[in-house]
Amino acid sequence: MKKLGFGCMRLPLQGEVEDIFSAENIDMNQLCQMVDTFIERGFTYFDTSYVYHNGKSEVALKEALVKRYPRDSFLLADKLPTFSITKPEQIPAIFEEQLERCGVTYFDYYLLHNIWETNYDVNIVPCDEFGFARRMKEAGKIRHLGMSFHDSPEALDRILTEHPEVEFVQIALNYYDWNSEFVQSRRCYEVIRKHGRQVIVMQPVKGGMLSQVPQSVKNEMNQLQPDMTPASWAVRFAASLEGVIMVLSGMSSIQQMMDNTSYMQEFVPLNQKEQEVLVKAVGVMKQSKAITCTQCRKCDEVCPKNIHISDIFATYNTIMRQREQGLNINVELNYYRPLKRRQHGGDLCDACGKCSAVCPVQIDVAKELKLASEFQDENSFW
Ligand code: SF4
Ligand code: SF4
Repeated sequence: MKKLGFGCMRLPLQGEVEDIFSAENIDMNQLCQMVDTFIERGFTYFDTSYVYHNGKSEVALKEALVKRYPRDSFLLADKLPTFSITKPEQIPAIFEEQLERCGVTYFDYYLLHNIWETNYDVNIVPCDEFGFARRMKEAGKIRHLGMSFHDSPEALDRILTEHPEVEFVQIALNYYDWNSEFVQSRRCYEVIRKHGRQVIVMQPVKGGMLSQVPQSVKNEMNQLQPDMTPASWAVRFAASLEGVIMVLSGMSSIQQMMDNTSYMQEFVPLNQKEQEVLVKAVGVMKQSKAITCTQCRKCDEVCPKNIHISDIFATYNTIMRQREQGLNINVELNYYRPLKRRQHGGDLCDACGKCSAVCPVQIDVAKELKLASEFQDENSFW
């Protein structure tokens, strides 16, 4: 199976668009062309969900894919909206609606969508959502059972221990977040592999952020691979990892599809030199930032409230970088609440000033902390 999957959360659109994720005016002609190109080039995996494009992504796939190709010539992944379910009796109706919207009798891959620990404890366990999915698998309506996950490696370890039936986990994984405190791609990946499960990657290009790298990084990339785009480096980084069975790319135009399929048709893993370029790239990208924090962590050590100040600054800087590039920051902020739950949030600060006294780059830490914390509190959607 080729490792590139068609993520159907940002399909091509017609006319003016305010929010690309909820827009319903899908350009069906272009989508059919993209589906044809994808399949002609030997790719088979399509990823949708109950909520993408307000449910119209599933319907669009029925028209562009399911009605036009034999059922056994493609793989369809769909997701149960765990975050919308508060009673067990809601689940069968949603599942049947998904089958009907997609025009299929089974899903090749089915995921519990967007799991974080609070949602797991408050909704998913009481509603026995895994139990429902297991029963659908036994009934032949699901071929492979998995989940998509946005929380800490510790929470992931707990959930995988409690659910041996989960065959694969979909996580945000990219070279920028490989060692980040926020998304923690590497640590989550390692937990999944420790449990012997397979990995599906989302956000390999970090919502588009890694398709626009600084010029010095681009020059280094071009020296080794003159014909490859920065986005291709990011996708190849994720696909090079052992245990990764699929890398999803949310493709919105035929041009993006032509680029992605060109280098993933005969996929070549990154070599050592290419890996080194990406390590340097992260360093360069993190130099330009809204708060000039060097991540020395001296403030964390002296804060009497035990606030993880440097992590809050690092995440704020990443979000500001995405905003500068005109990218959607919601996916990033998906990680904010779990991080706040694990660590003490900036709202506990009493402005004692101990942090600023030790900061080697003279940041007014309490002031910047208030700014960064309030921004994330106000913009986080759960
Ligand atoms: S000013 Fe706030 S963040 Fe800084 S040390 Fe005091 S409580 Fe901690
Ligand atoms: S002491 Fe200053 S530079 Fe060091 S982590 Fe804290 S804010 Fe950043």
